[in-house]
Amino acid sequence: MAKIAVLPGDGIGAEIVPPAVEALKAVGRKYGHNFEFTTGLIGGAAYDETGHPLPEETLNLCRESDAVLLGAVGGPRWEHLPVHLRPEVGALLPLRKQLGLYANLRPVRVFPQLAGASSLKTELVSGLDMLIVRELTGGLYFGEKKKEPIAGGYRVIDTLVYTTPEIDRVARLAFELAQKRSGKLTSVDKANVLESSRHWREHVQSLAPEYPRVELSHMYVDNCAMQLVREPKQFDVMVTENMFGDILTDLAAQLTGSIGMLPSASIGGEVALYEPIHGSAPDIAGKDLANPLATILSAAMMLRVTFNMEREAAEIEQAVTAVLEKGYRTGDIMQPGMKQVGTGRMGELVLEQILG
Ligand code: NAD
Repeated sequence: MAKIAVLPGDGIGAEIVPPAVEALKAVGRKYGHNFEFTTGLIGGAAYDETGHPLPEETLNLCRESDAVLLGAVGGPRWEHLPVHLRPEVGALLPLRKQLGLYANLRPVRVFPQLAGASSLKTELVSGLDMLIVRELTGGLYFGEKKKEPIAGGYRVIDTLVYTTPEIDRVARLAFELAQKRSGKLTSVDKANVLESSRHWREHVQSLAPEYPRVELSHMYVDNCAMQLVREPKQFDVMVTENMFGDILTDLAAQLTGSIGMLPSASIGGEVALYEPIHGSAPDIAGKDLANPLATILSAAMMLRVTFNMEREAAEIEQAVTAVLEKGYRTGDIMQPGMKQVGTGRMGELVLEQILG
């Protein structure tokens, strides 16, 4: 029996997670796997119910599970709370830290049916298939923060901290992934300005002789943002620190047509966590407008990465491709001549496709 913790969270989380769970159940039935799902509270929803965005019970549920499926957390309702009780800082970051999830894998793949939905010219994105490895438990998001009153206002401080072992483990993972793909790795930093980036670059470079089949290059993050828009297909595997990865993957998402298409896997600890890269999208929450495909594709990543079920993962991905091929689109990837459907219907279509 495989135990899966399900954390829908806030905003569109409650709409996009159920279709992904249904897809997992369908694949389970089809291939004779016994998945057990237990739902837990996280984010603003958990704060409202228990007074904390990451209740101990949720953390224990994750630790006792084989994998975690997360929707998204956050929203304007909880923005007024003290920082440590806000869904992102109080739940998401500590959950990643507590589970030891130091690497976030974000595949950026353009489905052929959606090449025209990208804001870039079709020829620039068509066939794009890259992997961004984002460091997830260090850097600016986890360094010491301060807000001190001074004459005329405040002095506000965020600290960017990395240790050699933190860089080492994520860089090695990226080298290994690059070895399994085309053998091309780009490490992204800001070594011309930041001390942490200079050490990042030196250390990543020092590992290169151990991976002779990988062609390593380095790029400054500002240039990288430009290159992703100018010629995205020059990249295969990219590795970068936490905040750079956060920003660059939102940019890269748009190459695929929509942020609603990008899944992710956070790995490194005993239990891996799977979630779409987008947030809780409060602007469209509760309106049956959200694209559930990023979450459904995150479920496929779970099957592949945690459960080593390649055939089952491919079954979900093929179902998504088939539904797109039939012309169904949620609003975010809608194009002229296609059939627009809501979140629920898109989920049903994928399910029908899996069940044949
Ligand atoms: P967002 O990703 O929630 O939304 C950005 C834009 O993309 C919005 O216009 C939204 O409608 C659209 N969008 C996002 N997901 C979509 C989907 N599946 N289908 C169609 N459209 C989609 O980012 P934001 O607006 O900056 O943040 C909203 C809240 O989410 C904030 O509270 C933020 O802190 C939180 N957040 C959470 C996570 C997470 O839980 N992992 C990640 C990012 C942001």
